Formats: sequence, structure tokens, C-alpha cells
Amino acid sequence: MLLTIAPAAACADPPDAAVYRLIDQLRESTAKLRIDGMDRDWRGVPEMTDPRGDAGGDASRDVTGVAIAPREDDLCVMIHTAGTPSTDRFVFYLVLDAVGNDGDNFEIILAALGQPPVLRTYGKDRQPGESIPLTHAKVAVRRVVEMRIPYRDMLAGLSAEQAELLTGPKARSWMRIKTQTWDTRLQRVVDLGPAAGSFRLLKTPYPLDGPLPPNSAEPVVAAMPVRGQWVVAQAAFGPFTHSKIWAYDLVKVNGSGRQSDPVRSQKNSDYFAWGQPVFAPAAGQVRTAPSDFDDVVPRGTPAPANEGNHVYIIASDRFGLSMGHFQKGSVTVKPGEQVTADQQVGLVGNSGKSLAPHLHVAAWGGVFRAKTVPIAFAKVRVGLNPVDNDPWARELDRWQPRYGFLVSP
Ligand SMILES: [Zn+2]
Repeated sequence: MLLTIAPAAACADPPDAAVYRLIDQLRESTAKLRIDGMDRDWRGVPEMTDPRGDAGGDASRDVTGVAIAPREDDLCVMIHTAGTPSTDRFVFYLVLDAVGNDGDNFEIILAALGQPPVLRTYGKDRQPGESIPLTHAKVAVRRVVEMRIPYRDMLAGLSAEQAELLTGPKARSWMRIKTQTWDTRLQRVVDLGPAAGSFRLLKTPYPLDGPLPPNSAEPVVAAMPVRGQWVVAQAAFGPFTHSKIWAYDLVKVNGSGRQSDPVRSQKNSDYFAWGQPVFAPAAGQVRTAPSDFDDVVPRGTPAPANEGNHVYIIASDRFGLSMGHFQKGSVTVKPGEQVTADQQVGLVGNSGKSLAPHLHVAAWGGVFRAKTVPIAFAKVRVGLNPVDNDPWARELDRWQPRYGFLVSP
């Protein structure tokens, strides 16, 4: 089964029209989806792939492809493995990002065959919470792993606040899963499979981009300050450090949607964002450009100095742009200096109040950094999957970053 969908750029229609057409098409084909472990009815549903042979020789746990279809009332997932799928206990983990602006929300664990999969929610610090059996889920493991999980089962395990975001009028337009497999004997993860994101296949048309925070002013339009593919890990008024500001955290990811290899590494150089060049998003005059804050250990205690090494550019008498957490010693511009748009100004690092290498971007109204204002990136590709053939990719003239989307210039 291959993904044969024309890339958005090749269409004459506006990019959103192509996405809505694909939603329609998939909604119809997945309505008849049978879950039988034979991979029969998934034709046309985009599948995200992962290399073969990266599970330490265990083909039964080597995830090579994943497809998801978040339908009206349930979530369908299909997993391809390099060999016949394993049926040991606690084998397949699906880490789901389904409900809101706070990272991964819960995981679904497919345990022994004949037992229902289990949903485990995450606490605030990503500690696993209670495990709830998904009693109405349908699972088949034969040539492939297939699961159909009704949202009503998931709702039993979610807080009222999360439940509201999973279904109903406030539900987000998309869902994403990341796959992992586990070896019960070795007690460790043996394979990280691909991430697969999809828009929901609802009957009523809905905006692809979620709503912006209230009182949204006209955005400052700027170029994206980094190259390659990044995920918006925290958007404006996000739940962590952005609770009161218009600001965006960009994290570089690989084709599996992971930000480091190994995952959750404590070494800065293991992160794909680390050392990436940062370019001025607009021409202007540099106002501040400190470069001697130390980089901190990832996943450790963040330093109190907020933006750490950063560059603040006054772009006009109306607004300025700041970028933070640069690598120590990497800032190449000085206060007072004029920069051109797209001029390199430093390298992405992990200085200041930062958990892992990323770029913090904000626009400020007025010359003095009095208050933040929204940003729209000009000429970007926005999608749900970190791969070149993402069927959901849109080429947009300008886009205000929302949590969880992949964005590249
Ligand atoms: Zn930030």
C-alpha cells in the first residue's frame, strides 16, 4: 500500500481546498473500514514509514509503517511490522497527541492478544497516571496490527477538560500518534516507529487551523528564522513559559517526529535543533545581542536567565523581533549593527530558561520591548507529518503558528 496523493504544491486550487478534498475522500473510504488484521481496506489512507531492521533484529516488533484515521466516533490505527507482529504482553505503544496545547496527552498500550488495549493518561510532569481498559476497542493482529478505538472509551480516562477537547465543538482538527514497541524480557523500548498525523474525518467542515487566542491583533509578518522542518512545540499563550505572551517555540524534528536521538537525551548535541543557523526574520538594527550565557543540560534544571543568549532586532518604529536560547558564543551581531533580512545572526542552543535546544521567537510592539504581538510567518509549508510527502501539507503565503504543526520555509 503506497501513498499516491498529489502534493499540495502541484494543485491549482488553494491549499486548503486540496486538504478538504482529501478529507472527503478518506472519510468515505474509511467509513467501510473492517478491522481484520489483514490490511484490506486501508487503500488510499496515508501511511507514514520507518526504516526496516532498526529493532535490534526483532522483526516482529520492527514497525515499518503506520496509518491513522481519526473518524467521527473512533480512531482507527494500522501498524505494519517487518515480520509477523509480536503478540507478547505490552508490545505496541501508541503515544497520542490528541487534545490540546500541552504535548502528548496519553498512550494506548496493546497488551496480550485477546485483552483490550489500555489507555494511560499522563500527568503534568509526563508521569503515567491511571490505566483504563478500552473495553469497546476492536483489535486484530494477523498480518498487521489493526485497532479501532471508540472515543467514548477514551473519554472514560480523560479529565473533563481534556474530554472537551477530544470531542465536541472545541475538539482540535487533527490527531497524531508516535509508535514504540517494547520487549518484556529486556524491559526496554526496541523500536521507535514513525509518527503519523491526520486531520479528523468529520462530516461538518471545520477550520484546519485552531482558533487564535482572543484579542488577536494584526500580526507582524516575518520570515521564518530557521531552515528545514520544525514543529511548533509551544505557541502563543501556551501552557508553559508562554502563558501570558505572544511567542513561539520551534523545535527541529527528524522524519519520525523526534527532536533528539536518542530520545530524551541529556546531551545538547543529540538534538537536531542544536547548532542550526538562525537568520534575521526581517531587516533592522540590533538592539541587544548577549552571547555569554552557558548552555544548560537538556531535561535538567533550566537557568533563570529567561532568553539566555538572544538577538533583539528593531525592524521598524512599530515593532521589533527577538529570538532566544542561542548557543554560548554563537551570536555574530553586535548592538547598533544593521542586519539584512535572512542574514545569519547565531546558532540555536540551549541557554537560559530552556528544557532542550529550541528557538524562541517573539515580536514586540514599539521599539522598547513593552508588549508582545502576534507573528505570521511568510511563505511557509505547514503540515502534520514530518516527511516530504506529507499529504496534509499546505503552501501558505502567511501563517500564524499554532501548536503541533510542522512548519518549514
Ligand atoms: Zn519560548
